[in-house]
Parts: sequence; structure tokens; C-alpha cells
Amino acid sequence: MAWTSEKTALHVGSVEPLMRANDGFAPFPGRTALPWTALSAAAVRAVCSCGWNSDTPVEVSPSQTVEAIENRLRQEWTPHANIAALLPSHRVLADLTDILEELTATDPRAALALAARVERRARAAASKAASNARAAGDSWAAVGAAFGITKQSAHSRFGDRPSLR
Ligand SMILES: [Zn+2]
Repeated sequence: MAWTSEKTALHVGSVEPLMRANDGFAPFPGRTALPWTALSAAAVRAVCSCGWNSDTPVEVSPSQTVEAIENRLRQEWTPHANIAALLPSHRVLADLTDILEELTATDPRAALALAARVERRARAAASKAASNARAAGDSWAAVGAAFGITKQSAHSRFGDRPSLR
């Protein structure tokens, strides 16, 4: 089971099986050609051929179908591939991070000014994106998953409230 994108050929997503480890989950040792369903995986996560992987493993439970689990992981991988198609090799974000780190060390007030601009832009973009995703029919759980927060947090952060606009 591999996922490809129409927007970029450089990223191929798949399901990585995970086993229970000390304080969470870890990949199975060595590479295996077996599909995750053939291993007794405790959890799975979305991974990409570029090295990206989802931060949030999904515990495998008998109450969920293989299709439901794979669809959920694919929904986590798709935004990654879409972003990657716009930012080849993630250079833009890496450059911004480098600049912020350098300024933080050499000119903290300039770093603060730049961080504030980035934060304001990102906050406005996230708000508008959440609104567009909701308008397109996405659930709060899907909006939260894309932003890396729970559905409750997504609702309280992006949900309708008296607007000052
Ligand atoms: Zn990728």
C-alpha cells in the first residue's frame, strides 16, 4: 500500500508498522517487506519516502477496519505531500529556521521582530485555512489533526465566536 500524489512524484507515502516500546511505540527492527497487516503491529503511522513521518501513531484496534486505518493515515500524509510540492526539499522553512536561529544568537530584538511577523502571518493563515476546511465539509477532528491538536482544541481555537471584524 503506497500513496502517490498528482502534485509531486518525489514523495511516496506508506503505512509503517510500530511495536510497543518502553514509553510508546517504535519501528520494527530491520526493514520488512511484509505489509503492516501481516505483522502484529501495536500501532501504525504514516511515513514518506523523503523521511517524513507522522508525529502521532495510531493504535491498532480490532474495532477499526484496515481500510479506515489506512484512510486516516493517508489523510495525514496528503497535506505533507501537498506542502512538499510547494516547497521543494523544504528549503524555505529550513532557511527561515536558520535565519531565526542566527538572529536569536546575534540580534535577539531582530529575531523577536521577525518571529512576531511570522507568527501573525501564520495565525491569520491558520484561521482562514480552518474556516475554508470547515466550509469544504471537514470535521473538527480533521482540522485538528492537520494542525496537530485535538478536535476540542481546534473547535475552541478556530470555532465560531463573536467576531470583531
Ligand atoms: Zn515526503
